[in-house]
Amino acid sequence: MLKKTKDQGAEETRQAFRFADELGPAKIIHIYEPTTALKAVVVVDNVAAGPSIGGVRMAPDATTEECFRLARAMTLKNAAAGLPHGGGKSVILADSKMPPSEKNKLIRAFACSIRDLVDYIPGPDMGTDERAMGIVKDEIGRAVGLPPEIGGIPLDEIGATGFGVSVAAEVAEDFCDLALKGARIAIQGFGSVGRHAARFLGEKGAVVVAVSDSRGSLADPDGLDIAALTALKQDGRSVTEHTQGTQADGDALIDADCDIWIPAARPDVITMQNVSRLRAKLVIQGANIPVTAEAENYLHEQGVLSIPDFIANAGGVICGAVEYRGGTQTTAMQAIEEKIRSNTRSVLQSSRESGLAPRQAAEDLALTRVRAAMALRRWS
Ligand code: NAD
Repeated sequence: MLKKTKDQGAEETRQAFRFADELGPAKIIHIYEPTTALKAVVVVDNVAAGPSIGGVRMAPDATTEECFRLARAMTLKNAAAGLPHGGGKSVILADSKMPPSEKNKLIRAFACSIRDLVDYIPGPDMGTDERAMGIVKDEIGRAVGLPPEIGGIPLDEIGATGFGVSVAAEVAEDFCDLALKGARIAIQGFGSVGRHAARFLGEKGAVVVAVSDSRGSLADPDGLDIAALTALKQDGRSVTEHTQGTQADGDALIDADCDIWIPAARPDVITMQNVSRLRAKLVIQGANIPVTAEAENYLHEQGVLSIPDFIANAGGVICGAVEYRGGTQTTAMQAIEEKIRSNTRSVLQSSRESGLAPRQAAEDLALTRVRAAMALRRWS
């Protein structure tokens, strides 16, 4: 084994604390379990409001830095949503497409390794699902996003996040001179967030005039048939296979003639290269970080209201927090409605009064809540 010099050791220690700031992270744990060759990283960022909740991502190339950034995003999201939870995240360094029996073993090994890490409650994320959370729960007694057979609320099926997006849209009516009834909507991504946002907004009187998925886009100024498009997607097909409307490539969705534009697919889809093409008055961020920071500032300067992701798409984590306390689907939807309504209003009101962009106002709201929670702790 190579011997490290004293200087190398000191540098490594400094590196280990490179993320430290006024909020956290409280713990960064590197896990190695030799029998299964499990390699994982857990970051518990800030637990002032309560035990951290955050997803378990399975990806071969995830880094400690990425895990920290995702955990910090959860601290802000959970605080902004007014949940009694801090932020955490974990990554298992492995290919999620491995055979199910191997994957189950790895998940079980991961669960055993975090048994005593009681200030972290795992949930599903990219590469893991409700079945994986069922295994974690079986092993250590704590996880959210569970299968319904063991008390889980099927948040993607009921459209928890899409419902929250539609509530944020209702609040925005008062802040951008827009009536939801008759508003024309374009939605990028027609998965669990996009299609449910379409359904709930349709129920509130809006008209979905353009949608897209990974294979292309579809537009009809008279309104698309959401139920028919949903049925197509549930069949494993694309929205572009629908007989109604005009088809185009996915990029064309940015030019859609609409009042509200909802990204519900990938990160960084609106950038300085394409932001000037958007024709909407209101952008509601259903996806995570769909708009770059520069493009978000540009929208603010142009008077386009853009509701940040961690305010508009918090429906899923609110649902998880309700599930953790044994709540039902009905109580989860009530909590989403109440929290997203009041948080969106606070953020937009504060943005209007201060002139700050909604993201800045949202971060200020979340940070104020985290600091207030920290002030109540023994070491404040
Ligand atoms: P999903 O996998 O169910 O659906 C994604 C949809 O996006 C699919 O229709 C897919 O075809 C489409 N898509 C993929 N690439 C595209 C592209 N380049 N252009 C247009 N469409 C494309 O995923 P989801 O659960 O709906 O999540 C969507 C986004 O919302 C992700 O960023 C996710 O992190 C975020 N999010 C999801 C939830 C939730 O509760 N599911 C909560 C918060 C945030």
